[in-house]
Amino acid sequence: MKMREILLVAMALVVGNVSYGAQIVYPKSQNVTINSDKTFFVGNEQTDKVLKINGEIINLHPSGGFKHVVKLNPGLNTFVIDNGTEQKTFKITRPQPVVASNSVAVEPIIYENSVVISLSKDNVPLRSTPVDAGLNRLQHLPKGLEFDAIGEERGFYKVKLGRDGFGFISMDSAIKTDKNKTDYANIQCCTHQHGKNEKFLELFLDRQVPYSVTDIGTGLDISVYNVVNYMFQKYDDFIEGKPFGYSSYYNADGALIVSMKEFPKVNPQNPLRDIKITIDAGHGGSEAGAIGCLGTKEKDVNLKIAQNLRNKLENLGAKVFMTRDDDSYVGLNERVEKSNYFDADIFLSIHNNSLSDSMADRDATGTETYYFYPQSKELAKILAKSISDKTGFKNGGQRGQSFAVIRNTQSIAVLIEVGYMINPDDNSKLIDEDFQNKVTDGIIDGLERYLRQDDI
Ligand SMILES: [Zn+2]
Repeated sequence: MKMREILLVAMALVVGNVSYGAQIVYPKSQNVTINSDKTFFVGNEQTDKVLKINGEIINLHPSGGFKHVVKLNPGLNTFVIDNGTEQKTFKITRPQPVVASNSVAVEPIIYENSVVISLSKDNVPLRSTPVDAGLNRLQHLPKGLEFDAIGEERGFYKVKLGRDGFGFISMDSAIKTDKNKTDYANIQCCTHQHGKNEKFLELFLDRQVPYSVTDIGTGLDISVYNVVNYMFQKYDDFIEGKPFGYSSYYNADGALIVSMKEFPKVNPQNPLRDIKITIDAGHGGSEAGAIGCLGTKEKDVNLKIAQNLRNKLENLGAKVFMTRDDDSYVGLNERVEKSNYFDADIFLSIHNNSLSDSMADRDATGTETYYFYPQSKELAKILAKSISDKTGFKNGGQRGQSFAVIRNTQSIAVLIEVGYMINPDDNSKLIDEDFQNKVTDGIIDGLERYLRQDDI
């Protein structure tokens, strides 16, 4: 090849398909099946081009990014994207809606005689409703724990909790035993201990029975079920104080331990000093997370913000643990286990958001925060506001959600969706270093307000 040709080929490789037609990051291929009545085209094009989809002009953001919503009819939908010099055809199949025919609602089964079930794995959720998702978890319980099951409902055993209460255990997490009544426990003695910044409750039981620990904001409510010599076969206790992380478990001697960290007394001048913080940059390695309209990978933005935040926190005297500090894949359990081992006070998971096809027409932008335990709601609320105040992003508020990283951590835990990758304006800001700095200034400001308990 002549020099000029080599140069042209090299240029084409560097700029990719941006200069030779629009880059479409979503849908992921030109022939896809999407089971929704709408979807969107997300991508970018040079701003001097006029980009049309089936003849309709697509609005380009000054960055070149776009998100364009289209309706999908049942069957094959064809979309031609045209930038004046090149055309790309997308064939999107929407499956025919399935007509709910003779599907019979599954009625709950009530056993004639109760059956004893035994948990077949560790960390099994005891739920308040027979649904395998959401905020209905009462407690995670260890392998071998027994319940009296009185029936079945939607793939769950309905189990007795004390004389009058009920819960649900997934049928694939327990086995039926040949007993028909579980043994109840004697609570032999109970002690409350007060450690440094920590309160303990220690209950001595002659066998392991179901229990639940509920954070009610002003303390922890503890219920132990299937015990003898207590009203309704249920023992109740309480640890008073504002929880700052807690854990509960049966120790090697069979005692039930509930430990609660107390809210730290901080120096208002320097509230972050010695506070242990886990920063969890979402996704990584083979898992890119959401793809922005500019082709930006969520995992890269998450890591940039996480590293910037780490530097600022360390300068303020905080002790920081990063669940990842490069572009590597780390599983959700590993993130949680390492943070619990680090004994973090606060766990912050950094993410950026996307939308599902069915919500494609939502005008999604700005910051949302998520918490699982009530103890984390206050920080989630403060962070959504403090990030919004510093960045000018819309404050999308805080929501309860059952994400694994904020559910299984024993600390105050908040997941931050800083902005929307598929929103052209959000995407163009999120890749800007000055903007990332504002995001982390907002997080620092929120953490300091929270630790000082300013205007709360
Ligand atoms: Zn994410």
